[in-house]
Formats: sequence, C-alpha cells, structure tokens
Amino acid sequence: MIILSVESSCDETSVAITKDGKEVLSNIVLSQIDIHKVFGGVVPEVASRQHVEHMTQVFSEAILKANITIEEIDFVAVTQGPGLIGALLVGINAAVAFAYSHDKPIMGVNHLFGHIYASQIENEMKFPAVALLVSGGHTELLYIKDHYQIEQLGSTLDDAVGEAYDKVARSLGLPYPGGPVVDKLAHTGKDTYKLPRPYLNKEEFNFSFSGLKSAVINLVHNAEQRNEKIDVANMCASFQESVTDVLVDKTKRCAAKYNVKQIIVAGGVAANKGLREKLAEQIKDIEIIIPSIKYCTDQAAMIGIAAYYQNKIEPAKKDYFIKGDSTLDINQS
Ligand code: ATP
Ligand code: MG
Ligand code: FE
Repeated sequence: MIILSVESSCDETSVAITKDGKEVLSNIVLSQIDIHKVFGGVVPEVASRQHVEHMTQVFSEAILKANITIEEIDFVAVTQGPGLIGALLVGINAAVAFAYSHDKPIMGVNHLFGHIYASQIENEMKFPAVALLVSGGHTELLYIKDHYQIEQLGSTLDDAVGEAYDKVARSLGLPYPGGPVVDKLAHTGKDTYKLPRPYLNKEEFNFSFSGLKSAVINLVHNAEQRNEKIDVANMCASFQESVTDVLVDKTKRCAAKYNVKQIIVAGGVAANKGLREKLAEQIKDIEIIIPSIKYCTDQAAMIGIAAYYQNKIEPAKKDYFIKGDSTLDINQS
C-alpha cells in the first residue's frame, strides 16, 4: 500500500511517500524557520504564502525521490488539523487537486495522530500504551488501547511545553525556535535558580506551564531592573530540570496506573535531550519508544503512517471535500 501524504499545518511544507505504514520512501521537508526567525515566531500569513510558493515543487521532489510512478500511489492523505487554518488549506487544496486529477481516494488526518504514529517508523507500537505528546501547541497524556483507539487522560491547562520553551528562550534573548537552543545551553549550565515544579494535583494527569514560564520571565525582568546579569546557561538548565521533572514523573505514574506495555513519546519536544535522558534514567521497567529527531518535528511521513492505520478503520474515499479544521482535537478524530 503506497500513500502520498501532505503536511502543512504550521511552518514546514512537507510531502512524503510511505509504504505499508512503515517504510519511508521519501520525506521532503521544506522548513520556513529562517523566514519566521526574524519575527521571533511563526507569522500565519507568511507561512501560508510560503506553502503556496513551494508546495508543487515539494510534491515533485517527493515523487521523484521515492522513485515511484503516480499510478503506484494507492491513496492520498493530508493533515486536516489542528493547525494554522490558512496553512492547512494550502496543503488540503494541493492534496485534493492531486487526488482528483489522478483519480485517487483521499483522507484527512489528525496532526496529533501523525506525531504519535511517527513512533511506528523505527519501532513497533505495542498496546495498551501511554503516549506523552509534547509539541509546540500541545502537551497531552493519552491512553492508546489499540490502533486509532486513543483517549485523552490529561492535557495542559494553559501553555504547551514547546510554547513555554519558545517564550522562555525569547525572554533570555535566544533565537526562535527556542526549544533546541535552551536544550543545548541547559547541558552547559547548572540547576541553580529555584523554579516551581508545576505538579498541580499529584494524582491527576493535567499540566500547567504558564506559572513556570512567568517565574523565569519575572527573574529576568527583576535582574534587568537591578542591572544584574542572568546566567543564561544556568537558567536554561533550571527551567529544563523543572519541565522534565514534571513530564517524567507524570508519565511514569500514568504508565503504572494503566499498566501499559509501552510508553510512546512524541511531538517536537520529544527531541529534547534532557527529557530523553531523564526518561531513560527513571523508567526502567517499561519499554519507551521515541522517534529519532527528524521524525519528532513536523513532516509528512508521520501523516502517511497514521493514514495507513486510519484506512483500515475508515478507508480513503473519492470525496474531495475535506475541510481544514483548526479546532479538531484528539478526541474528535
Ligand atoms: P503541534 O504539533 O502541537 O500542532 P507544532 O507542530 O508547532 O505544534 P512541533 O513541530 O511538533 O510543534 O514542535 C515544535 C516545538 O518543539 C517548538 O516549540 C520547539 O521549540 C520545540 N522543540 C524542538 N526541539 C526541541 C528540543 N530539543 N527541546 C525542547 N523543545 C524543542
Ligand atoms: Mg515547525
Ligand atoms: Fe506538530
């Protein structure tokens, strides 16, 4: 089964060709990071325009690199949401145009399911599993009973963890996206600043990161007013320690409570070295799978893998009216 998949929910224009829900024949990713960097974050209108400009080229490269003919493609899959609505619509329209003109079935895929299914590329998912989904817009603990049977156990009540990383980085004068820079600096610093561990209620699986983010921003402002210098590496280390303490502890308790066979860690923040190290250190009795870094952040291969399993439940159709939905969440798929 060969699937052509498209991802354009944020600032990566990506098209992939995947085979049988496992093999990645091509995965072309055009990142717009350098363009958005000057604004300190993703500008939705700029992102949409960049997708329009590059989408057809990315389509061609993906097909060429996979070394397949268009006839061999069984169906088309495209990210439907959540994401930036203008950005999503560019990918959806391109995917629909391609599917319609080549008479292929098509389906819309939830972006968050894509992040989870990125795990299936290099590892085998085992059920029941608990997934820690940590990305730019989401922080969730999910129970996965079987393929495409996903239930939300907890979620952030305010900022997503990736968003907190980006805002903390900004307050420290570090470039966008902040996550990778803070992660790198954290490894050169020490946990010297006293920051809160936002556990909320220890027994529940929700998160909150805005208080922690504000604690860092307040320390930075207070130091500025007193003409004191913040040790940036130590602040990064302190922030990362706090974030990873909470994420690892909640994941560990969640996995134990639901007696799972596997822990899946997914989303852009799953690229975080500190998080990977602490998970490995503190959870030894349950298998943990994390995609390699190139499959943690946004790309279309993960959409193609999710689509393969979605197709077993609800097959792709020659119905060319997919709507972009920026509110489509994990419970509504
Ligand atoms: P969503 O998937 O929720 O719609 P998104 O697609 O924007 O959001 P991703 O592409 O999955 O998010 O991840 C991007 C986020 O991951 C950014 O906030 C970025 O700072 C963060 N990130 C990337 N690498 C690291 C890292 N090494 N440490 C911490 N955060 C990181
Ligand atoms: Mg991105
Ligand atoms: Fe994402």
